[in-house]
Amino acid sequence: MGKPRVAFFDFACCEGCQLQVYNLEEDLLKVLEAVEVVGWREAMKGHSDEYYIAFVEGSITRRSDEVRLKEIRRHAQVLIALGACATIGGINCIKNFQDPEGVGRFVYGTKAQDYETYPARPLKAVVPVDFEIHGCPITRKEFAAVVKALLLGKRPESPNYPVCVECKMAENICVFEKGKTCMGPVTRAGCEACCVTEGSICWGCRGLVDDPNIDSQIEILAGYGLAVGDILRNFRLYSDFSGLKDEQ
Ligand code: SF4
Ligand code: SF4
Ligand code: SF4
Repeated sequence: MGKPRVAFFDFACCEGCQLQVYNLEEDLLKVLEAVEVVGWREAMKGHSDEYYIAFVEGSITRRSDEVRLKEIRRHAQVLIALGACATIGGINCIKNFQDPEGVGRFVYGTKAQDYETYPARPLKAVVPVDFEIHGCPITRKEFAAVVKALLLGKRPESPNYPVCVECKMAENICVFEKGKTCMGPVTRAGCEACCVTEGSICWGCRGLVDDPNIDSQIEILAGYGLAVGDILRNFRLYSDFSGLKDEQ
């Protein structure tokens, strides 16, 4: 049996998650020994539609994207969403909260009508997705772990507990204690709370844990005398979580 054939694809995004894969360096060489890459616009010429695993980056922002994504899904035995744009819509969703015509005019001026667009959405809104690698960008470590699991015939695992758990393990002082706010209590872990460790806050780029305790988050915020609507709106940086809209 030959090596599993793998292809990379991108939709609306900055291609930063593919860059993370490219930057695996020595580990990338190990990955390349184990698979055959048959499509990767960012790294090679040529392409084949015969692939087993499709890594798909970017969000869907126009009807014609749906046609292309469905075609990729048709060819792939396993379809993996790569990064926040693909898993939760990502920063492209910011436009979903703006007047569509106004956004079009702002970006394209009088040519706005020439460009097809609709509200940004994650891949799973269009096709079934087998696994999601979260983050903006993804972590190299997680990508390597997912590939390894797939090659061993196992289902990859993604943490399903909040960033706060990893934040405590990193011995960070909670930003709430400093009068700031943070989406860590409802955001899926796996990044080792890197943003907090580096002196920032969690903006929720890995999306919600499967069963987020939104009520608890509201209570925590209220306890700090903070405006719940303003805080939840922070999630709009990465995703259009319709469930959060009602809380504002
Ligand atoms: S998730 Fe972030 S880094 Fe990855 S493609 Fe989207 S914007 Fe770029
Ligand atoms: S700083 Fe954020 S992620 Fe860390 S414990 Fe506090 S709320 Fe959780
Ligand atoms: S701390 Fe939050 S914003 Fe930063 S990488 Fe982790 S999930 Fe994303």
